[in-house]
Amino acid sequence: MSDGAPILQVNHTSRSYFENGKEFEVLKDITFELRDRDFVCIVGPSGCGKSTLLREIVGLDKPTSGEILFQGQPVRPEDPRMSMVFQSFALFPWLTVTQNVELGLEAHGAGPEERKGKAKKYIDAVGLAGFDNAFPRELSGGMKQRVGLARALAMDPVLLCMDEPFSALDALTAQNLRDEILQLWLNPDLPPSAVLMVTHSIDEAVYLADRIVVLTSRPGKVVKIETVDLPRPRNRKEPEFYGWVDEIYSLIV
Ligand code: ADP
Repeated sequence: MSDGAPILQVNHTSRSYFENGKEFEVLKDITFELRDRDFVCIVGPSGCGKSTLLREIVGLDKPTSGEILFQGQPVRPEDPRMSMVFQSFALFPWLTVTQNVELGLEAHGAGPEERKGKAKKYIDAVGLAGFDNAFPRELSGGMKQRVGLARALAMDPVLLCMDEPFSALDALTAQNLRDEILQLWLNPDLPPSAVLMVTHSIDEAVYLADRIVVLTSRPGKVVKIETVDLPRPRNRKEPEFYGWVDEIYSLIV
């Protein structure tokens, strides 16, 4: 959608759980939106409700109050216009790379030719050409996450959601993948239109995002939405970079 309308609107949503008859508020009055070409990170301390919020956005959970709209309509589970990359990769070990990438397409009724074509396109796009028939056990952590990414992109999503996608990876692999995500996102010929990523790493958020939704915990609330106007590629060694990291850190602690 490039008519300037928001892709995603999170409007005053809250989420509570009940434990031993007592209400336990996890998220309180969360409001923000995403538009075409946005790369937004949600940061906050562990347990502040980041994953819960992302699950609500993709329709896997429901807010207790408030609304979440995707392209102007209430979100619905398994909407192929939104796809998700998980920290744990979430691959099926008994399926090959191609079969794992084809899974979402198959679930949405794509025929064998379309599945094959899209799987190949995105396996190549994430740098896994030649590994089409490999099984997850034959791949490194970084390669497994590339499969997770190819599977998400194969749906041609408008919105790509990622939940701590790099935190199970070693530092060097994580940094390579961050750069590659940016390259993919900057490529106008490839989806998605916007990216929403949850991370506990402030450094990672400042490296990647145009805007950062900063949450505090118990219950998770938006303390500030920062617009990071650093030019790309961003350099962690520059004072402006760690100025941003310090600024966001000071909002959380
Ligand atoms: P984060 O991703 O920021 O680490 P989560 O969204 O995973 O935080 O969890 C936020 C809080 O909500 C945690 O205290 C967690 O225990 C609680 N929580 C999450 N899901 C459930 C659930 N299904 N039932 C009860 N409590 C939950």
